[in-house]
Amino acid sequence: MLKVVKFGGSSLADADQFRKVAAIINAEPERRYVVASAPGKRHYEDEKVTDLLLRCHALATDRNPFKETFELIANRFRGIIQDLGLSLSIEEELNTVYEAIGAGATVDYVASRGEYFNSMILADYLGVEFIDAERCIFFTKDGKLDSHKTNTVLENLLAMVPRAVVPGFYGAMPDGSIKTFSRGGSDITGSILAEALEADLYENWTDVSGMLMADPRIVENPAPIDIITYRELRELSYMGATVLHEDAVFPVRRSGIPINIRNTNAPEDIGTMIVPHADGMSGDRVVTGIAGKTGFTAIYIERDMMNSELGYGRRVLETIERRGINFEHLPSGIDTITVVLSNKELEGKKDLVVADLMRSVRPDTIRVYDNLALLAVVGRGMISSPGVAAKVFDTLAKEKINIRMIDQGSSELNIIVGISAEDYLPAMNALYNAFDPRKGQ
Ligand code: ASP
Repeated sequence: MLKVVKFGGSSLADADQFRKVAAIINAEPERRYVVASAPGKRHYEDEKVTDLLLRCHALATDRNPFKETFELIANRFRGIIQDLGLSLSIEEELNTVYEAIGAGATVDYVASRGEYFNSMILADYLGVEFIDAERCIFFTKDGKLDSHKTNTVLENLLAMVPRAVVPGFYGAMPDGSIKTFSRGGSDITGSILAEALEADLYENWTDVSGMLMADPRIVENPAPIDIITYRELRELSYMGATVLHEDAVFPVRRSGIPINIRNTNAPEDIGTMIVPHADGMSGDRVVTGIAGKTGFTAIYIERDMMNSELGYGRRVLETIERRGINFEHLPSGIDTITVVLSNKELEGKKDLVVADLMRSVRPDTIRVYDNLALLAVVGRGMISSPGVAAKVFDTLAKEKINIRMIDQGSSELNIIVGISAEDYLPAMNALYNAFDPRKGQ
């Protein structure tokens, strides 16, 4: 049994957090490879080390002094080393980085140093090897992950090292320069390691006990999700419910490795298990999660005998595509078709698109619904449980919420409804209450 474990920034924000992390790692010998983030926030108004590094880079680029900001960073690391009672000295390296920033080092190099120092300190504290990500995570010259080289090197390198800490978030370009993933990218490093080492589990330790069934900023005290499949996660993430960097899912999903989201501050909680298939896993609920987003527009098109007109739908989509707009959903009836677009994509182009459509597909009716919110009720259990759609519609009807659009994915994994943005919060609460597992769905 082998586990790759990744700890996020808040899990490694100070010496106390380091102690919790070490206790977690030492509790299970299978937790052999550790990916670490840079120190995150210790409290609400605190700053992440990565943000401070980026500020140093911006100041240096504008030829402003950055010593004071750099000292904040250096003191974070010095504080951790001192509080943990380590004899490690990073002064020389700190100085090298300081000079490099002044000499015009790239933003990626500067941003990556938070992970670099934090991982070095964690490795020292755990008494295991530190393996720099520039030695094992590789990009191609167009900036994409070089999976082949990365996997080969990781396999060979770590075959000789039974336990190690690898910094997250960055790797090396073919010319040896440092490149980072996008923000939050340590999740991706963990996933890459898990895949390359054929881990049995990828544990992602953060500051929440996994995913919740609904957004806690909208719904009071929603139930946690114990088990979710990759496909359900994709549906909920699309609607904005995220606990992981989007690109982190791909490597482990491809190799069928489950991810366990855990809480460093509550290690006794089981967290959320993200699995390829949930067959036979007990405790299945009909609905796994409910998520939603505002900021959509629906264009409703009606034309008599549309269903027998060859190429009608294609022409609708082509017209929209010609304006460089990506569509989100496409529910259709016999003689109707609704195209749901995000307001961001449509910005400044709405009237043009409508005029284009009038010309190219000559609808009998065309109506635009601005200010649409989408709500997705997602659950693998829906396939085998009749009446979920009826319950969704019934719940919204009782709240006097008008449904503008319905889209049930052909996977029968979700039901998406479009409602007016003003109804978003009451709809979310009503739906959650209707499917709350604590009340027995
Ligand atoms: N430290 C980086 C960030 O703040 C990467 C990470 O934490 O995953 O985005």
